[in-house]
Amino acid sequence: MNRSYDVIVIGLGIMGAAALWRVASKCTRSLGIDASGPSHCHGSSHGASRIFRRAYWEGEKYLQLLNHADLLWKELEQVTQRHLLFRTGGVFIGDKSSRIVSGSIETAKKGKIEHEVWIASDARKHLPAFNIQDEMAVVYEPGAYAISASEARLAMLNDAVLNGAFTEFGNNVVKLEKHGTGVRVTTKSGCIYFAGSVIVTTGPWITTNLMPELTRFLEPRRVPIYWFKPKAGCETPFSQEQFPIFLYERQDGGLLYGVPSIVSNEPDVKIGFHNRQQSPSLPGWENVPVQHRYITEIPPIIESIFPKLEGIPTQAKNCFYTMSHDESFLIGHSKALESTYFASACSGHGFKFAPAIGDALANMAIGQQASFSLSAFSVDRFN
Ligand SMILES: Cc1cc2nc3c(=O)[nH]c(=O)nc-3n(C[C@H](O)[C@H](O)[C@H](O)COP(=O)(O)OP(=O)(O)OC[C@H]3O[C@@H](n4cnc5c(N)ncnc54)[C@H](O)[C@@H]3O)c2cc1C
Repeated sequence: MNRSYDVIVIGLGIMGAAALWRVASKCTRSLGIDASGPSHCHGSSHGASRIFRRAYWEGEKYLQLLNHADLLWKELEQVTQRHLLFRTGGVFIGDKSSRIVSGSIETAKKGKIEHEVWIASDARKHLPAFNIQDEMAVVYEPGAYAISASEARLAMLNDAVLNGAFTEFGNNVVKLEKHGTGVRVTTKSGCIYFAGSVIVTTGPWITTNLMPELTRFLEPRRVPIYWFKPKAGCETPFSQEQFPIFLYERQDGGLLYGVPSIVSNEPDVKIGFHNRQQSPSLPGWENVPVQHRYITEIPPIIESIFPKLEGIPTQAKNCFYTMSHDESFLIGHSKALESTYFASACSGHGFKFAPAIGDALANMAIGQQASFSLSAFSVDRFN
């Protein structure tokens, strides 16, 4: 077996799957390695759905990446002939002066993104599922959508393989070393591979052994997500047609997000806190149940926002956020090891960017320029 590759991608969550997909589309000899199986429920990318939106309250620095990602998500859907994107539109709800409302409007205007701003009385007519108070406003982005998350990741891996990429599952990489101008990659099972360059996308595990230079900038946190059933006879307001993907900022600053059911194996409405209920934790391979105190906190919150939902969740699961100090991403090349590139693109909002980040990593790994500047995501901003 030939053990030399132009590019090896380590960690095939959504970032690594996207990187391998883009590397393979650029006709390079490539290998993707993942510690787990092709489909698993550890780390950050598992589950049925993720949100895509461009009227990004977090700021215009994300716009170029978002625009590029939007094109590539649509290309993925077209190339693989799978239904991966569910055009639900998106609503961003908060007090009129909240960061969610003002930030979404600002980015939508800067990015010339189609949007509408609704006052509370109008919003109640459009969004029968939500309790919207008089002092609130809603930004509606018709072009926002839900991504079929696990399917999209598998579609990328399939297409990468069809384009000649090799994959190896169930074998974790334990060491990276300099080898000429490239990298020597050692796995736990004792395999040794050589690569012209390496892309490390190991999600919350990136802070463990492979990229010690990033450890002090990142903190993996376990975060719960919940599913809720509509009350009997109240199903229609939660259908994909009437229930867009949403962000909802409460007056105490608590930010919730949610997605209607888009696949039959995850029925009910998925809702989670973006900025509460986070527990610093090392990632592992076991299924840890959601803490009881978090589950008991949730029903009154859900009942106050969604009077037509049962407040007790039908399911609760954990996932991982890998948080940076400023809740943005770390993307770049290693200072410790030549020809090694990485992306820790999470902070709880990285999925939507994956094809664009994967494309940028692929370009860097094959010695080409990324099609946009990634300086805003460099580690240097913390120095
Ligand atoms: C509950 C929840 C909801 C979210 N919602 C959204 C959303 O709506 N929209 C959005 O844009 N983002 C969202 N995010 C964030 C998004 O899901 C993450 O940014 C993204 O999944 C990060 O993917 P990743 O590939 O970096 O990491 P991971 O998915 O964790 O992948 C890392 C991979 O590396 C492998 N690995 C680890 N160590 C090794 C090793 N040594 N050798 C080989 N392989 C290794 C693991 O097996 C794993 O497959 C959400 C996150 C969570 C947790």
